[in-house]
Amino acid sequence: MRVIGKFKDLGKSLGTSSSGLEEVYLCPYCITVIGKPDTSGKLYYNKKKRVGHCFKCDSLVFNTEIPDISELAEEWLSILSPTQAEDSTDSTSLFDLSWTKPVSEIPQVYEYLINRNINDQLIDRYNLLATDFPILGVVIPNVMTGKYTDYYQIRDIKQDSYIKYRNPVSTSKPVYGIGFIGDNKSIIITEGVFSAISASRIPGCAGLATYGKSLKLDQLNQIKSLNSVDNIYVMYDGGTLGPTIKAANMLLKTGRDVYVTLLPWSKDPNELSDEGIRICFDTNTYKYQSPDYGNLLWKIYNYNSSKYTSKLYQWRSLIKTLNMENSI
Ligand SMILES: [Zn+2]
Repeated sequence: MRVIGKFKDLGKSLGTSSSGLEEVYLCPYCITVIGKPDTSGKLYYNKKKRVGHCFKCDSLVFNTEIPDISELAEEWLSILSPTQAEDSTDSTSLFDLSWTKPVSEIPQVYEYLINRNINDQLIDRYNLLATDFPILGVVIPNVMTGKYTDYYQIRDIKQDSYIKYRNPVSTSKPVYGIGFIGDNKSIIITEGVFSAISASRIPGCAGLATYGKSLKLDQLNQIKSLNSVDNIYVMYDGGTLGPTIKAANMLLKTGRDVYVTLLPWSKDPNELSDEGIRICFDTNTYKYQSPDYGNLLWKIYNYNSSKYTSKLYQWRSLIKTLNMENSI
């Protein structure tokens, strides 16, 4: 996050966002922040809130004079910039998390996690932390070395927060959760960090997250190098079929057994109870043998989309059809 503060001119709007809440602009800050211009319109500006965010360079802009903006900006930049750990032996930049608190010290954060099916054991296993300034949220570190981490995310838990996830500026994102696999032979690839933590409730499995709907090439290589892993499951949010197939096709290249687990429409793993996630895993997991399987999934999905209007119905009937295919 880079707080630009009051911006001058964003030029002409390219249109409105799909939600209708924001105007979309070419971000003028990308070139200075990441060295590449924004060519597709990644800066979303909310007129009502008078705040904008660039999803490419992570700049935050305001169209208002906020009295303590410089103070806030300084705080943010110090938190989100990588620092050299005093005791690190190589040149890797790490992030200092000494500003965080234990989850148990901030009741709202603790309650938020419990409501999302993340219990004490998971909080402990995944070293989850909390913060109440400058925002109220859960801090989710990847690999911790003392008070430092290689990467982390902050989940803002205020209901009306404009940006839900805060990522520190970094050139590449690791796969979340590799340090927590332990002796599990099966890994479950999910979209978000909470989903990965929630997926770890399935016995014998460890959840990993790609920090979004797409598996990147360097993330694939990290997964490939996990020699102790035999089985890879893709468990993206219910209904995200395209990214699921894309990830499964990539994962076939690891030479491991690849499976896809289809969740109920629009549900992610932390919206399912302990029992619910196990039932989904046991009954809606399919072995993914080749890209042909993805093509078949698409065909069934498109056929059903043209036939029915309700998305929930589409997804249910897709799962039903697949069950039939499997039993032939
Ligand atoms: Zn930008």
